[in-house]
Parts: sequence; C-alpha cells; structure tokens
Amino acid sequence: MESRIWLSSPHMGGTEQKYINQAFEENWIAPLGPNVSGFEQDLEQYLGNDSHVACVSSGTGAIHIALDMAGVSTDDTVLCQSFTFCGSANPIIYRGATPIFIDSEMDTWNMSPAYLRKAIQQELEKGKKPKAVIAVHLYGMPAKIDEIAQICKEHNIVLIEDAAEALGSEYKGRKCGTFGDFSILSFNGNKIITTSGGGALVCRSKKEKEQAIFLATQARDAAPHYQHTRVGYNYRMSNIVAGIGRGQMEVLDAHVKLRRENHDFYHNFFNNIEGVTVFEEPSSEYFSNHWLSCITFHNDNEMLNCEKLRNFLLEFNIESRPLWKPMHLQPVYASAVYYGNGEAERLFKYGLCLPSGSNLTVEEKERINKALQVFFKR
Ligand SMILES: *Cc1c(COP(=O)(O)O)cnc(C)c1O
Repeated sequence: MESRIWLSSPHMGGTEQKYINQAFEENWIAPLGPNVSGFEQDLEQYLGNDSHVACVSSGTGAIHIALDMAGVSTDDTVLCQSFTFCGSANPIIYRGATPIFIDSEMDTWNMSPAYLRKAIQQELEKGKKPKAVIAVHLYGMPAKIDEIAQICKEHNIVLIEDAAEALGSEYKGRKCGTFGDFSILSFNGNKIITTSGGGALVCRSKKEKEQAIFLATQARDAAPHYQHTRVGYNYRMSNIVAGIGRGQMEVLDAHVKLRRENHDFYHNFFNNIEGVTVFEEPSSEYFSNHWLSCITFHNDNEMLNCEKLRNFLLEFNIESRPLWKPMHLQPVYASAVYYGNGEAERLFKYGLCLPSGSNLTVEEKERINKALQVFFKR
C-alpha cells in the first residue's frame, strides 16, 4: 500500500526546534515566558490594525474567554454560525448560555447577513436581545464580515470573529482576525500553522488583552498570597508550545502560498468536470488562505457523489472528508433554535474537502490527479 495522503497534516518549517531549545536552556518550561510574548508580538505585527493578542491553550478556550469578556452568562442567548466546527459553539454552553444557529449564504458559505438580521429582529420581538454573535471564516474563506459587523453595531451586540481557519486570509485588503470586537485563532495540528495545540484571543485594546491574560491564568488578584475575587481559567499557552508558534510564523506566508497552489491544482482539474464546482472566492474583495480545498457536487447522482468519491480515494489511501456537519443538525444541539433555509444542510450533503496540506508533494498530487481521473473517467 502506498503511504497515506492526509487531508491536512502538520508542516514544520525547521526553526521551531531552535525556540524550544532556548526555552529548555533558560528553563522557561511554564505557561509564560519569552516565546509566549515573542509569539504574541509576531501575531500582532502580522495582523496589524492595532491588534492585541493573548495566546491561550486552544481556539475553543479563546472563544470561551471572549464570551466571558462579552458578559455572556446564564440566561443569555448567542447567535452562532451553524455551518462550523463544534469548537465555535460549545463555549456558549460552557457559559451556561443558549446558542441560536444562523444559516450560511452561497457566496462565502459563511453566516448569512440576511438571516442574522432576521434572527435579531425575531429574538427582539420575543423580548430578548442576543448578547453576542459568533461569525466564522470557514475553510479560510472570509465571511461578509463588514456587513455582519455593521448589523452587530446597529444593535450594539458584541461580535466574536472565529478566524481559526483563516489566518492569512483577507477581506477588502484587511487581515481576517481583525474585524471582531474579539477575534480568535487556532493553532491545532491541522490548521494553517500549528503549535501542536493552541489558540489566541485577538483584542482591540491593551487593557482587554491584560484582562484576557488575567482570566486565562486563574484570575489571580494582586496579592502575595493566592486571592481570587472571581472565577478564572487555566488557559494560558505554554512557553514550549509558543516556541513552535514562533518558528511557524516564519513560514506562514509560504504556507498560504502553497495552500493556494493546491487550490489552483483542483481548480484546473475540475474546470473540465461537469457537475462539480471548486469552492472559490466570490470576487477580488476576498483573499482566502484556502486552508482546505473543497468541492460540491451539483445534484444527486448514484454513481458520482461525495461518499462514492471519498470511499474511492480511500482505496488509494487518500484521505478526504465531508464538509462540517451544521450545528443545528447535531444531536447535541437538536433543541436549539435555527434561522435559515437549508443552505448549510445542502453544503453538508453535497460537499467534500480534498487533501490540502502545505506539505503535499508533487508525487502526492500526481497520485491524487490519477485517482480523480479514474473516478471521473477522464
Ligand atoms: C479549529 C477550530 C476551532 C477551535 O480551535 P481549537 O484550537 O481546536 O480549540 C474553532 N472554530 C473553528 C472554525 C475551527 O476550525
């Protein structure tokens, strides 16, 4: 059997070990240290727009802290994109609040501004103003984030921007991760850069960043003994993990370029295939890092569909994966309120993610090309 081609696997640049060795030499084996501040500075510089970054142990943890800082607690409701990974939504439950799910729109596959408006209106009519909105840039594709931000502003609702999959993506020339009142990033093993596991909360002021770090380190008051006037979290990033992040920042732009080249490869292949579309930027205002390259089949076909293709590729030891299953279809969220018209459901039914790692080799792409040719009888 030929070796496995993964959907998206860790891709080290080479200098990560240097930062880790430094941490060992200086005995900074702790959830703080020069690599943590160094990684935060690198991210602040990369994102620009007066970003203030607090590194934490996961993207999910970053959303948890963002919701806390937004004042979300028991009895509150939070509007969340349905078409996403569970890490976007679960922290709403951690806060004891109630998620309300919003459908996607066709251009970007992300939160529909129209359904967001409708949801806010109807929830206001029910007598309850949602406390926050969680919008996602899925697969690296920027959401219609300025429209979403405008709606949030009109209603004075906190916007949390989930850019876990979109580091390096831009909307109207501005980096994703800089549009929300709070934005979050993830450095999990399969993301565009990885620290093995990790995340970041991007704040809009230094004061908020300090508050985020305070919360992420058990909310310890200024006293020689351990004193707490509120409950915090143990979410700070470790200095070892941050060392990997510093090395990865040196190759981030190269990784974006390679992921976009993967997308071009699929674009060229599927150009000649009827009934399949590669997920593309809707206009030049959008710049996707193309974290994962995705396709959708146009209609039901017993021979040519996602599940057939996924299983066919597996025979060649090539991994692919269905698109995210919408949150409002998840058993755990079966009772949640949902606003939409089935766009996310359609994407889940007809879509597939193809191997997209920045470390895909020419030989691996040739294997994928051959397998696809056989499947589509080219
Ligand atoms: C990966 C991911 C997260 C969560 O990040 P973790 O670091 O894995 O906790 C949240 N939202 C989206 C859209 C993601 O892809």
